[in-house]
Amino acid sequence: MKEFKKCQSCSMPIKKVEDRGTEENLNPSSMYCKHCYQQGEFTQQDMTVDEMKQTVKEKCIEMGVPKVLSGMFVKNLHKLKRWK
Ligand SMILES: [Zn+2]
Repeated sequence: MKEFKKCQSCSMPIKKVEDRGTEENLNPSSMYCKHCYQQGEFTQQDMTVDEMKQTVKEKCIEMGVPKVLSGMFVKNLHKLKRWK
């Protein structure tokens, strides 16, 4: 199975297996990060793509990610698998 290098929900890069979310059987998810996906379910199921963009933007500022980079994350966020 293909393992995505970035979360298909929030577009954050996934570098280590510890950063991955978990499936129902607690295997690491190939698609989503631990912030978005736990035990086979999205942590915030009602979230819209616009809310996610806002959250990612705030998170990036919090983590000191350069504006250009966070802008890129957010710009393509709606193209990710979760939002199709
Ligand atoms: Zn995520």
